[in-house]
Amino acid sequence: MSFPPHPRRVFDFLFVLPPGAEDWRMVSGEWDFPVGRFSLGVAPGETWVGLQPRYNTADLAGFIDGLRKRGRPDVAIRSAGKSREGREVPVVVVSEGAGAKQPVLITARMHPYESAGSFAVEGMIKWLLGDDACEFRRGHEFHIAAMVNVDGVHNGLSRLTDLRGANVNRVHAVSDRTHDAIRALVEEVRPRLVIDLHNFLEKARDDARSTDGEFLRRLARRLPDQSRFGKRWRQITWDVAKISDEDINWCHFVAREYGGVGVMFELPWFRRSGGDMRGLGAGILQAVLRTHAE
Ligand SMILES: [Zn+2]
Repeated sequence: MSFPPHPRRVFDFLFVLPPGAEDWRMVSGEWDFPVGRFSLGVAPGETWVGLQPRYNTADLAGFIDGLRKRGRPDVAIRSAGKSREGREVPVVVVSEGAGAKQPVLITARMHPYESAGSFAVEGMIKWLLGDDACEFRRGHEFHIAAMVNVDGVHNGLSRLTDLRGANVNRVHAVSDRTHDAIRALVEEVRPRLVIDLHNFLEKARDDARSTDGEFLRRLARRLPDQSRFGKRWRQITWDVAKISDEDINWCHFVAREYGGVGVMFELPWFRRSGGDMRGLGAGILQAVLRTHAE
């Protein structure tokens, strides 16, 4: 490369988890292209350093194990299928009591490196199991695919299931077992509402994108203010009828096939901790559900 990348995309920040620390913190550095310099005080023990906070298959297994141990009757753990490398694609199902329910699908880690989705999902599930969400548990059946692209996460990839694998965020993709699993889940659940979580690398912006512009305008009034992280919400409405076959994703698919609403979020890490991202997940789920219930 002969010129520096666009300033918004420059990685002049890292995330660090010092030994014994509860949460990741951001560390700023200096960019003297092509070299970035960071100063860290490192204590004895194991320090994790990453472009984004780590959340791998073992972190997810620990979280799901914690859910299982709580033994709540309104939580079930199932699998959407197995990946090419034989990993289960786990689904947390949350619903309380009998009667008709609105099916909701929540997906994260379609793109493996976008770890924000996993932290946001943890915050969503914590809120969903609390007293405030009782009415939503009774009226809905939540299917939460907390880590769709399990092989990609395990192998440290960015977008695909393997080096020549599928982009599982697309309806039309190369043949792939994880892609089969997510398709089967969508077709079984037939969601009225899909919430799909991503994190691009912007610094000053979060995105809320939807298949329904009117829904998105109402949602925008409820989305939690993010100005303390230097971010503003950008709203994008997809014109579902005009999306090419190549670009159609599961939000578009659900709008086209089932008349549902798809909402996709891009929640970049810049200036945020893991705790911030969990809180944001809880905030956006409340905003989406309350908007959808209007
Ligand atoms: Zn993504």
